[in-house]
Amino acid sequence: MALALGDTTASGVENAARSTSCSLTPNVLLVGRRNVFRAKLSGVAAARTRASCVGLDGTFVHAARGKTTFEFDGIVPPATAPVAGITSVAVEGPGVRGRAPVMLLRPEECLIYRTSVRGRKACRACRDHAASMVYVSEEAANVGRPHPRCDCPIVSEKVSWEHYARAFWPTGPGAGVSHDRRWDWPAAIPPGLTVSRPRG
Ligand SMILES: [Zn+2]
Repeated sequence: MALALGDTTASGVENAARSTSCSLTPNVLLVGRRNVFRAKLSGVAAARTRASCVGLDGTFVHAARGKTTFEFDGIVPPATAPVAGITSVAVEGPGVRGRAPVMLLRPEECLIYRTSVRGRKACRACRDHAASMVYVSEEAANVGRPHPRCDCPIVSEKVSWEHYARAFWPTGPGAGVSHDRRWDWPAAIPPGLTVSRPRG
């Protein structure tokens, strides 16, 4: 029996794509690089054996206790747009659609932002503290200035993708917006973040 459009529920209404909760492990994806990751979807019938995510086809791994796991292995397309901070990606297949929180990073372009303390015009607060505070975006650095009249230039600094992910995963102490390098650097791995080495 083929149900191309997906499940027929008890009420007789067809669901073309049932929403489900979904998570990826690891949950940092590197654009333009090979990534190996698993997606776990809940509430999906075990018969669902196909899914796709960021342009990759997943293979069914197993289903148990209402959770179905797919594995993905491939190069995340270079055209995929990276995002400052956390975003979500779709995991979808016949009769299923979910979104999983991830960081989507271009490893060669992981920039952090801070006020500059170069030159005589740097304000006292920036010289004393602000050079240690780094931000996920230029806008966030502007909002995070130490006082309203701070006019110090905002500069960017390139860091490794793993430093970036650890600093700006939203469960960290800076809530995904900022990180004080005096706390630690690289930042401690915040709850929920899983990283693995790139495969090439
Ligand atoms: Zn300043």
